[in-house]
Parts: sequence; structure tokens; C-alpha cells
Amino acid sequence: MSVNEQQEATMVIETNERPYAVSEDTSGSSSNAQFHREDSQSNRHQVQGWNLFLLKRKFRLQLVKLVLQRYGFSRQAVAVLRNLKRKNIQIHGPTAFRKWVHASGKNYFYLYAAGFPSMALQRMLQQEMDRLDQPETLQLRFAFLAITKKCALRCEHCFKWDNINQKEVLSYPDLRNIVLKLIDTGITQLHLSGGEPLLRVKEIVQLAKEFSAILDIWVLTSGFNGTAENISLLKDAGVCGMVVSLDHYLPGRT
Ligand code: SF4
Repeated sequence: MSVNEQQEATMVIETNERPYAVSEDTSGSSSNAQFHREDSQSNRHQVQGWNLFLLKRKFRLQLVKLVLQRYGFSRQAVAVLRNLKRKNIQIHGPTAFRKWVHASGKNYFYLYAAGFPSMALQRMLQQEMDRLDQPETLQLRFAFLAITKKCALRCEHCFKWDNINQKEVLSYPDLRNIVLKLIDTGITQLHLSGGEPLLRVKEIVQLAKEFSAILDIWVLTSGFNGTAENISLLKDAGVCGMVVSLDHYLPGRT
């Protein structure tokens, strides 16, 4: 799946009756979840008001707790907290943490950061501290893994065209080994792409069952094969959400 130069919609997988909640980015920038459809039948929503205030407090408390666990009550702990805040603003801009989306028990402030609360986010925060302690240490925060060469579509802009629909080369054990190695490098978020990753739903479900406790797993897809049944399987296995590329549309059929 090529994700550049495309308009994308972010879907946080939520319920079985309506397979997913949608956070759409219609601004042309695909880096952040911008909107979230309200659904009165579920608890998925953009966190606002008093709940947002409390959520941010909880998040900060967890951060402070992790910092204190590592550095104790010390000047260094205070300096680390300041530096983390400064780095966060450098990377995500001054509006970071202003908009949060709640879905399936987790809260998301940025597409490329793990949900809160989660083991993945805890590991991510610990890694940010590692980075401050040893800036030269190479750690990945997230990775994109193309799990298949197969795709049923023929997008004009596909930059993988020469390699698409070749023989599949990665078995499930291969994928599993790659994910284990990526975890060793420190990733806390895994984005599965292809080809069309939803052609390997079974393998994604297996990966999610094995690794979703320590990794946030997302699927980058054209939506092909995104049936309600498959989405439910992914959701039940622990996949966080999907980024759906809207490459073409037919006027009158949108
Ligand atoms: S042909 Fe398939 S892999 Fe290529 S851009 Fe389109 S959906 Fe993605």
C-alpha cells in the first residue's frame, strides 16, 4: 500500500455491529487523527471538557511516576520532566495533547504514538527517557512492515507496481521473527502494510494475538477485503485501528 500523496482516513476499530469508528483527516495532512464521528451507541468519542482535563492529569501522573521510578525524588527527575516536555513540543508542536480520541478503552493523542493507558505507551515513555540519557542510542519508535506482495487493485500511482503480485516470500514464522527483532529495536507501534495487508487477515490476527499486549498494531489498507467479519476478527485480536487510503473515487458514488 502506498501511503504517500493520498488522502487517508483513520479508523479506530471499535464495535462489531458497526465495525469501526472513523477519525477522518480531511485536511490533506495524514499525520494526525483530526475528527471523530460521534456514535451515541458506544463510548468512542473525542475526549472533551472535564474528561479531557482528567485524562491529561492521569497521563501526566503516569509520566511522573515512571520518571520517579527511574530517577527518584531528585533534581535530575525534574530536569528529565522538563526535557521530555521540551522534546515533545519540538517533535509534535505546541498543540500536542490538545486533541484526544477515546476508543476501546484507550486514548489516542497522535497517530504515531501508542494509546494510553497501555504497556506500549509505557515502553514508549521509558524509551524517551533512554533517549535523553543516551542520545546516541538508536531506537525505533514505530515500524512499517509490508506483510504481503499481493494486491487486487491497480492504482495508477502505485510505486510498488514492479513488485506487486509476485510470489509471497514471508511465511508466518518469518513475520513473527521480524516482529520480534523489531521489538528488540524498541518499537512500540507496528503498522502493517503490503501490497494489501487485509489479504493476510489470518496472519494479522495471529500477530495481534501474540503481540498486541506490548505493541500497538495498525493496518494500512485500501479497504479491500475489509469486510465486517474481518474487521471484527482484527478488533477481537487486539488490532488498534486501520489507516485507509482513499486513492480514487467515483463522482456520484461517494
Ligand atoms: S495497487 Fe495495491 S499496493 Fe499499489 S497503491 Fe494500490 S492498493 Fe496500494
